[in-house]
Amino acid sequence: MSLLTLRKLAYIAAVAAFCAAIQAQQKNPGYTDTPILPGQKWHVHDPARPHPPVVAPGATPGAPPSDAIVLFDGKDLSHWTQQGRPDVKWPLRDGYFEVGPGTGDLVSREQFGNAQIHVEWSEPAGIGGESQDRGNSGVYLMGRYEIQVLDSSGTVTYADGQAGALYGEFPPLANPTRHPGEWNVYDIVVDAPRFDGGKLLKPMFVTLLFNGVLAHDHRELTGTTEHRVVGTYKPHGDGPLLLQDHGARVRYRNIWVRRLAAE
Ligand code: MG
Repeated sequence: MSLLTLRKLAYIAAVAAFCAAIQAQQKNPGYTDTPILPGQKWHVHDPARPHPPVVAPGATPGAPPSDAIVLFDGKDLSHWTQQGRPDVKWPLRDGYFEVGPGTGDLVSREQFGNAQIHVEWSEPAGIGGESQDRGNSGVYLMGRYEIQVLDSSGTVTYADGQAGALYGEFPPLANPTRHPGEWNVYDIVVDAPRFDGGKLLKPMFVTLLFNGVLAHDHRELTGTTEHRVVGTYKPHGDGPLLLQDHGARVRYRNIWVRRLAAE
């Protein structure tokens, strides 16, 4: 074999090795000659770091993504129950349901801890009443912590009791409430409390986007929702999503939940 042929073969081998290295990096891109991230076990751009699950987003804004548990899709209330009743008394309408005044709260059959929650609500057009008697309902996280539902587009109530408030603890950062007859959207992130027996290890944090406007940014709660007193923590595990019957015919639609793992 001539020297020229040997050189050609060496060149071809080098090109093949280079291509293989590029291909390997494309299949599993990243670096291992980089520093370890503080507080983590991974290199910067670590090729061994696991990827998050693929989730298909909803077809339209607000539609449930592929990994959501849909609690109400406009058709039936099979995911819900009412305490002490064999069947649900809240009336189902065309694509939404209404609070059944005086029948009690609506409670999801499923229990949730850390979660992303989407809820849409609307006050009926022509609603009357003032302050806490103007379209009052509520979205209770883990069955204990209320995000207030109220018509705060027209009248005034105490700030920590208006729409989007963490009731009795924090007003929302802004008031983007839509008028009766229009739909409001709550996108909520629950960072659930943790307990060790009777001891609080970590409090509850809530994030709320209210009609796309930031209303609570990882807000730390002082305890469960109470009226006229300061709430404290009572140890609990996962809890249901609860919608409050406060005597007003508030409407709900498009409710879904994504379970989130603890960090
Ligand atoms: Mg309420």
